[in-house]
Amino acid sequence: MPIILTINAGSSSVKFQCFEMTDEVCLAKGQVDRLGSPSPNLFYKRHDSVTHQTNVPPVEYETVFHSIFEILLNIEKGILQNLNDIAAVGHRVVHGGSRFAESALITPKVETAIDQCIPLAPLHNPYNLGGIHACRQALPNATHVAVFDTAFHQTMPDYAYMYALPYSLYEQHGIRRYGFHGTSHRYVSMRAAEILGHPLTSLKLITCHLGNGCSLTAVNQGRSVDTSMGLTPLEGLMMGTRSGDIDPAIIFHLMEEGQMPAAAINQMLNRESGLLGISGIASDVRDLFRAVSEGNPMAALALKMFSYRVRQYIGKYAAVLGGLDALIFTAGIGENAPSIRATICEKLGFLGIHLDEEKNRSDEMEKVIHQADAPVKLLVIPTNEELMIARDTLRLIEGSGT
Ligand code: ADP
Repeated sequence: MPIILTINAGSSSVKFQCFEMTDEVCLAKGQVDRLGSPSPNLFYKRHDSVTHQTNVPPVEYETVFHSIFEILLNIEKGILQNLNDIAAVGHRVVHGGSRFAESALITPKVETAIDQCIPLAPLHNPYNLGGIHACRQALPNATHVAVFDTAFHQTMPDYAYMYALPYSLYEQHGIRRYGFHGTSHRYVSMRAAEILGHPLTSLKLITCHLGNGCSLTAVNQGRSVDTSMGLTPLEGLMMGTRSGDIDPAIIFHLMEEGQMPAAAINQMLNRESGLLGISGIASDVRDLFRAVSEGNPMAALALKMFSYRVRQYIGKYAAVLGGLDALIFTAGIGENAPSIRATICEKLGFLGIHLDEEKNRSDEMEKVIHQADAPVKLLVIPTNEELMIARDTLRLIEGSGT
């Protein structure tokens, strides 16, 4: 009964789940959030709905993991008798550069490679590494595996991942499209094939991961062939607080005419733009729906722009794929906002996309929402990146004979 712990260590939160992998059952999950604030919180939930919530001292980053192990070992609320019950730990790592096209057993060499990718993801990889160090120290007997957000997109052809910049930038600085949310795009692609009852290798799919961060991927025969995020997760769709695609000359205009320093523009593009920037109210679509119902025109504009841009990318990727068998919606907005799904699908009838309004509004979490005779299947699939991390981890420990 191998128990696998998954760790998603970010700058402001550390999320964890424990799986029993014979049956892929989640035994417990939780997160420590508000890291860096004076009072970080630990939330924990066991499979039988026993919960626990507590303040964690604002200690050094790596010490947070002790609180996680403490609750997992807690006599009343925990799930483990001994930390050695954890056979392996799967770590989410945001950036694997061009080095990793698949998940990897963590060795000193792999750690160095993750470290070398820090310039490509300075806000993520250092924390991912912090999690790896802390867990390796606490669980020296377990196998540790890195699962990269970028890995799934390593199958993109060069003409899709190259920017039309001097080639030397790619050679010397690795400037290219990498793409993100790969674990989610991979999971929903596989699940879609199961639901549709066709081999993944026979399908042309567009997967729409619409959460706080948003990205679309064109998946041909199970392989990512293009994706909307780029060198960083800033490119592509309009997001909660990120601008997505803009004319890069806007940046020079702001520097020269607006006297804005680069750091302020970076902050603006990543944290003050997107749904928040246009509406001036919030990055969360639930708040924007409320504002629209109260007659707020800026919230309405923000939501229109959001759906319009997703629709644009669907057209683009249908052309990339040369056809389309299924369109999949996932993540916070994709799973929970039927009105946004409906607006996105408007005008896409020419591609064979015909949404069934009643199915679209049904309460089921995983559902098929196309009209019975529609050529393109429309699916809503809750993403499960943690399960995907646990599966990869299991596959690697079985393969390594540990
Ligand atoms: P993250 O990218 O941080 O993992 P999520 O995938 O959880 O984010 O998506 C968060 C977003 O999903 C929220 O900002 C909100 O816009 C949207 N969302 C979450 N729940 C709902 C809901 N019930 N109805 C509509 N939108 C929702």
